[in-house]
Amino acid sequence: MATPYRIAVLAGDGIGPEITAVALEVLRAIAPRFNLEFEFVPALVGGAAIDAVGEPLPAATLKTCRQSDAVLLAAIGGTQWDNLPRHLRPETGLLALRAGLGLFANLRPAKIFPQLIHASSLKPEVIAGVDLMVVRELTGGIYFGQPRGIFTTETGEQRGVNTMAYTAGEIDRIGRVAFEIARKRQGKLCSVDKANVLEVSQLWRDRLSALSIEYPDVALTHLYVDNAAMQLVRAPKQFDTIVTANLFGDILSDIAAMLTGSIGMLPSASLGESGPGLFEPVHGSAPDIAGQDKANPLAMVLSAAMMLRYGLNQPAAAQAIEEAITAVLDRGYRTADLMAEGCTLVGCREMGDLLIKELSP
Ligand code: NAD
Repeated sequence: MATPYRIAVLAGDGIGPEITAVALEVLRAIAPRFNLEFEFVPALVGGAAIDAVGEPLPAATLKTCRQSDAVLLAAIGGTQWDNLPRHLRPETGLLALRAGLGLFANLRPAKIFPQLIHASSLKPEVIAGVDLMVVRELTGGIYFGQPRGIFTTETGEQRGVNTMAYTAGEIDRIGRVAFEIARKRQGKLCSVDKANVLEVSQLWRDRLSALSIEYPDVALTHLYVDNAAMQLVRAPKQFDTIVTANLFGDILSDIAAMLTGSIGMLPSASLGESGPGLFEPVHGSAPDIAGQDKANPLAMVLSAAMMLRYGLNQPAAAQAIEEAITAVLDRGYRTADLMAEGCTLVGCREMGDLLIKELSP
C-alpha cells in the first residue's frame, strides 16, 4: 500500500507559483515509482496572504502546516509590500512560520554539479566534487541571547551588548541532528566553534565530543571558525557535514553556498524537534523575472528532494530526482541564469517538462 503524505504547499510570491508548479509535477511523477502518495494542501503566506486576508501568516496557514508531514515553501516578498509596517511585511510571515514550527536546525547543502563548475568563482580543480552540508543552529546563540540592547554606561557612553549563550540541551539537540545527517552522508562531521576564546564554544565542543560516543560510525573533528572559513575556500572537498552555532553558521553557509556560484540551484531545510520540517530554496521571490517563465525551478525541485530525504525519510525517491536533474543538465539544457555557450536555453516550464520526461518510465 502507498504511504500517504500530507504536504502543506506555500507558493508565496514572485516566481514562487511558477517554481512550485514544477516541483509538484516532479513529486507527482515520482510518486508511483516509489509507492508514495501525496496530498498537497495549498496555503497562503507572504504578500499573497497580505493581499488575500491582510496578514502575512494567517492562523489557518500555521494550522495547515502543523497538521502536515512537511511544508514546501517557495519564496515570499516583493516591492509592493515593502512600505507596510514591519508586522505586516511578508518577511515577518516567514519568521513567524519558522518560530511557529519550532525549527531549530537549518540545513544548507552545497553541491557542485559538474556541468555548472564554471559558474563558481573558484578554480574548477578546487571545487570539483564538493558535496557538503552546513547544519546551523537557528533559534539560539547570539541572535537571541540576553541581555541585549544599547545601554548607557555610568560615564554616559553608549554600549551595545549581545550575548552568545547555549545551554547543554540546546547544543545536544542540534548535535544529534548533525550526527544523524552525517550518518546518512559520508559519516564525517566537523564541529566549528571558537573554543580557544569563548566559553560558550568550549561547552559546545565538550558536548559534541561527549555525544560522539553515541555515534561511533561518525568521525567527529573540530575546527575554529576562522580556520573553517579559510578551509572552505582553500580546500572545500575535505568537508562532508559541518555543524555550528547560529552566528558562525549564518556566515559559513553563505560561503559554502557561493562555492557553487548559482543561487538558482540552492535548496535548504529547517527541522524541528518533532512536527514537520520546512523545505525551501535559498533564493528569494525574484520579482524582476516573475511571471515571465524565466525562473530556474531547480532549487525548488532540490528542496522537494530534501523534503523526501530529510523530512519523509524517502532517500531513494530523493536520489531519483537529483539524478534526473543531473541528466537534464548533462544534455545541455539551462535556464537563463545558468546559460553558457553551446547549451540550450529553456524556460521554467520546459525545464519541468524535461525533468518529468527523465523521470517517466
Ligand atoms: P532574490 O533571490 O529574489 O533575487 C536575486 C537575483 O537572483 C535576482 O536577479 C533574481 O532574478 C535572481 N534569481 C533568484 N532566484 C532565481 C531563480 N530561481 N531563477 C533565476 N534567477 C533567480 O533576492 P532579492 O532580489 O534580494 O529579493 C527579492 C525579494 O525576495 C525581496 O522581497 C526579498 O525580501 C525576498 N526574499 C525572500 C526570501 C525567502 O522567501 N526565503 C529570501 C531572500 C529574499
